[in-house]
Amino acid sequence: MSNQTIQLNDDLYDYLLSVSLKEDEILKSLRMTTSSMPGSRMQIAPDQGQFMAMLIKIMGAEKLIEIGTYTGYSTLVCAMAMKKGQIIALDRDPISTAVARDFWKQAGVDDLIDCRLGDALESLNKIIDDEDGLSSFDFIFIDADKRNYKNYYEIGLKLLKQNGIIIFDNVLWSGAVADLNDQDKNTLALRELNETLYKDNRIELSMIPVGDGLTIVRKKE
Ligand code: CA
Repeated sequence: MSNQTIQLNDDLYDYLLSVSLKEDEILKSLRMTTSSMPGSRMQIAPDQGQFMAMLIKIMGAEKLIEIGTYTGYSTLVCAMAMKKGQIIALDRDPISTAVARDFWKQAGVDDLIDCRLGDALESLNKIIDDEDGLSSFDFIFIDADKRNYKNYYEIGLKLLKQNGIIIFDNVLWSGAVADLNDQDKNTLALRELNETLYKDNRIELSMIPVGDGLTIVRKKE
């Protein structure tokens, strides 16, 4: 027995999925469609999606923002976890989000999702300016260009309710964040983000080794 987080080899991960993953057919179908598309590694792991869905249900989250939609798996899994409410889904790619829209419609949750194409920082500022979005969102998922994570975070924190959460994807970056010889710009951005969040007294955090690493941040009262 160890007090460290267990290492998952392929067999153990397969086992974990076999006794815990209950993935809806439409989600599975979206995952299969996406696997042959460019950038398919951007898709979140299905167990990660299920974990996020559970958080949404526990919280009763109804106002969500997703930064980085791609083909819409995380959006779909979140929308299916909500009974009512709205997800504002931000992305700049009309091709991948067209796939997303098709699956959202098939799943019958497209009316819960407001997909906005363009620069995400501009879209977030518009939510503050035009819609008086300050301190009104329950849940924000950040999974876009890593070098802007810190900028998304600062605006996201303004949009987030007290006790709301922000989830950052890819915070362990395939392990590269712990390899100080790795000076790639994305690695540096994620390492800096992780250090910044750790020191930030406005929030509490937990870093979870699900998928490529998730940090969950709760905005303090
Ligand atoms: Ca990701």
